[in-house]
Amino acid sequence: MAELEGKPGEVQRFAVDWMLGRLARWLRILGHDVVYGRHLRDRTLVDCARRERRLILTRDTRLLRDRNLPPHLFIASDHFRDQLRQVSAAVPVGAAPLLTRCLDCNRALDALPRERARDRVPPYVWDTAPRFLVCGGCGRVYWPATHRAHMLRELAAIGIVREERP
Ligand SMILES: [Zn+2]
Repeated sequence: MAELEGKPGEVQRFAVDWMLGRLARWLRILGHDVVYGRHLRDRTLVDCARRERRLILTRDTRLLRDRNLPPHLFIASDHFRDQLRQVSAAVPVGAAPLLTRCLDCNRALDALPRERARDRVPPYVWDTAPRFLVCGGCGRVYWPATHRAHMLRELAAIGIVREERP
C-alpha cells in the first residue's frame, strides 16, 4: 500500500449529504475521505462534519439557515460534472492518490498479495493486473483496469487534470 499512499495533506475530508451520491462516489474515486449515506441528513450530517472536522457538501438550503454551520459548500448544480467542478474550484481535489478507498464503504484499501487474489478475481484479471487491493470492511477486491482510463478521461473533461501513475 505504501507506494499508493499520498501525502496526508492531499486527501480532503468531506461529509456529503444524501442527495449527492454520485458526487460522493467520484470524490472517493479521487481518493478522498468521504462520509455519505442515507442516514447523513440534516443534523446528523452537521454533527458528523463537526465531530470529524469535515467539509460539508450539501444541496439542502435549510441547513444554510444555521448560523453556526461548520465549514460547508452549497452545491449549486444538479449535474455531477458541474458539482465536481465547483468542489474542485473550492478545494484541491486532484492531488490525492486515485482509487485508494472502497467506493462502497470509504475504507482505505489494503494491498492484497497476488496469491491471495487468485480465487477472488476472474482468471484473466489475475493474469494481467499488476496489483490488487482489498477493502477490509466489505471484502471487495480492486485492481487497475480499463475503467481507470475512462475515469481519467472523464476527470480531464471536467477539468481535473491528474498526473497518471504507472
Ligand atoms: Zn468496502
